[in-house]
Amino acid sequence: LPEQEAFDIEYWLLEEAKLQRMPKAKPLVGKVALVTGGAGGIGRAIVERQLQEGVCAVLLDIDAAALESTVTELSKKFGKDVVRGVVCDVTSEESVIAAYARTAIEYGGVDILVSNAGIASASPLEDTTLALWNRNQSILATGYFLVGREAFRLMKAQGVGGSMVFIASKNGMVASNQAVAYCAAKAAEIQLSRSFALEGAPLGIRCNVVNPDAVIRGSKIWTGTWSQERAAANKVSEEELEAFYRDRSMLKRSVFPEDIAEATYFLASELAAKSTGNILNVDAGNLAAFPR
Ligand code: NAD
Repeated sequence: LPEQEAFDIEYWLLEEAKLQRMPKAKPLVGKVALVTGGAGGIGRAIVERQLQEGVCAVLLDIDAAALESTVTELSKKFGKDVVRGVVCDVTSEESVIAAYARTAIEYGGVDILVSNAGIASASPLEDTTLALWNRNQSILATGYFLVGREAFRLMKAQGVGGSMVFIASKNGMVASNQAVAYCAAKAAEIQLSRSFALEGAPLGIRCNVVNPDAVIRGSKIWTGTWSQERAAANKVSEEELEAFYRDRSMLKRSVFPEDIAEATYFLASELAAKSTGNILNVDAGNLAAFPR
């Protein structure tokens, strides 16, 4: 090669190397995120984190009253043009398809899906009724399938890729006392995400999982019947239950909705451009040495 040409190539390679070392985050401004269970504790924190990045958010939730108050509060904080709420039951195919149609009309499409709507239930194996089993399967496994499939169809039609994050649970990886139906349905969500990742990869559609451990406060699951039932079953107060989760963790720290929101933001954004089919456990270290 002539000297100048060799020099140009070397210079170009160095510039490339420099680019490779630069953070890959692209601003999410103008992207559209659909978040199911957006009126709940973790969902709301996820929506707020996305709105901070300039994303337009569509909250799907079955709880119309909670949805209305959440959307009103977020509109005041971030502006009314960037937040929408759609009442939707994720177990109903009709309801999910209608919610995506509404999102497409309002914002022209979907770039990010966060599948998060869920329930928690505590029941010893022997007392687990078929109705409770089916409820877990339909809201968690079927719900994640339906909202994920519709996101996939829309993202494929848009032709510019997309990103999905499934909020599953540590209990999708390991068994937990009195949670047979929940654990099985959460495991289904994790396996579902891998199939989405496989079929989505050629289309630039990524799909990853965030696994929370017990998320303390700011979440209906924690503040509602779940923590009460768990505390009662273990004959401790809710404060003692919280202390139990904190002390059991490697880091001796509680996990909050904002921690799940940060992990979700990372996976949804271009920061995680080369991650798909992966799981990020936000559990203060619990899974790494569990049970202890
Ligand atoms: P939450 O109860 O505060 O919020 C859940 C939201 O989902 C609620 O607003 C509820 O109305 C909505 N929802 C329930 N059924 C629905 C349906 N059929 N269609 C549409 N919306 C529906 O709970 P959270 O703590 O914010 O949990 C969010 C997700 O995180 C769930 O999938 C849950 O399993 C998972 N998770 C939570 C914890 C925890 O400790 N809180 C731990 C691990 C995993």
